[in-house]
Amino acid sequence: MTPQERLDAAGGWLTVDLGAVAANYRMLRQMVGPGVRTAAAVKADCYGLGAARVVPVLEAAGCRNFFVATLEEGLSLRRITGHDSAIFLLNGPMPGTESLLQQARLIPVVNSLEQLAAWRALAFRLETPLSAVLQVDSGMSRFGLSAADVARLAAEPELLDGVQVVLVMSHLACADEPAHPANRAQREAFLRLRALLPDTLGSLAASSGIFLGADWHFDLVRPGAALYGINPTPDADNPMRPVVRLQARVVQTRVIEPGTAVGYGARFIANRTSRIATLSAGYADGISRHASGAHVVLCGYEHTRLPVIGRVSMDSIAVDMTDLGDVEIAPGAPVDLIGPHTPLEALATASDTIGYEVLTALGQRYHRTYIATDPAGG
Ligand SMILES: *Cc1c(COP(=O)(O)O)cnc(C)c1O
Repeated sequence: MTPQERLDAAGGWLTVDLGAVAANYRMLRQMVGPGVRTAAAVKADCYGLGAARVVPVLEAAGCRNFFVATLEEGLSLRRITGHDSAIFLLNGPMPGTESLLQQARLIPVVNSLEQLAAWRALAFRLETPLSAVLQVDSGMSRFGLSAADVARLAAEPELLDGVQVVLVMSHLACADEPAHPANRAQREAFLRLRALLPDTLGSLAASSGIFLGADWHFDLVRPGAALYGINPTPDADNPMRPVVRLQARVVQTRVIEPGTAVGYGARFIANRTSRIATLSAGYADGISRHASGAHVVLCGYEHTRLPVIGRVSMDSIAVDMTDLGDVEIAPGAPVDLIGPHTPLEALATASDTIGYEVLTALGQRYHRTYIATDPAGG
């Protein structure tokens, strides 16, 4: 197939701007300053955007520390990254996987005394010290050593024999709400717990945490979302460059009379003579079934926001194009679901979710194009 045939064959198009990813990385690094390392969270295939294409761009921008969730992600990332890049597994080692992890030179984030014991046992078997990140639970109750676990490590430091702690980290639950009291409370808990552990680098902030200010940066920050253009400051304008454009295409249009139903469950009834377009992307492509109420724009007519109506189907959505008047809408015409006039956050809000879930839900059927705009601007 020719490139054009491949485009034509797809129901929808996903365009990822790698220059914007690089620009976002550099902006965050500038914000935290030269004394702080800027790692990247690249789990879930770089939030659905494709680690094989995105990670090399981050490495070219200077990133050398990468966080994934699982061993499987770590193993495939190891084939992408350069030798001197560190790969950390946020979920830590699943029982029995420690050797595989070590052979691939992956570094576990140790979240429990059980994970620590298993990692240490491997270090003893191999008669070599093994690196690990220690995660402490500073108040989110998700991953990490509890305060009691940390107290035990402080009392029995031999539990860390054979383990080289390279980072002590924790994760903020409410960083996207800057005024939330949990942020300060978690920072204080982190400071208290960290003081009981070996003296090494510390890390607390992901994307939103970076924007809380220098008190949250410590020695290493771990942004994911902001790199991919998701707004890390939901209450303010998005400071990041948009990375994703998502387009579906018109399959057909029809004119319906007032009182006519659209879609499964007849949940939309036209109250005027309406021109309806059926687009070729649906919930199998990650457009939430709750996205009726979202708005799209017909490419070339970006000034008119067009509502998604009725229920989202597996392979299609319906859009009310009446407000375009008698503009010609040709079969195959592209429509922006996410684009310069239809931000990711708007689609997320209309779908009753967040940009993170919209990106990670994007299906496999889109034709993907990677472009590289100038990282410096434009
Ligand atoms: C996902 C994740 C990150 C990145 O979070 P963003 O909000 O996407 O920047 C950082 N740290 C941990 C522990 C995570 O799970």
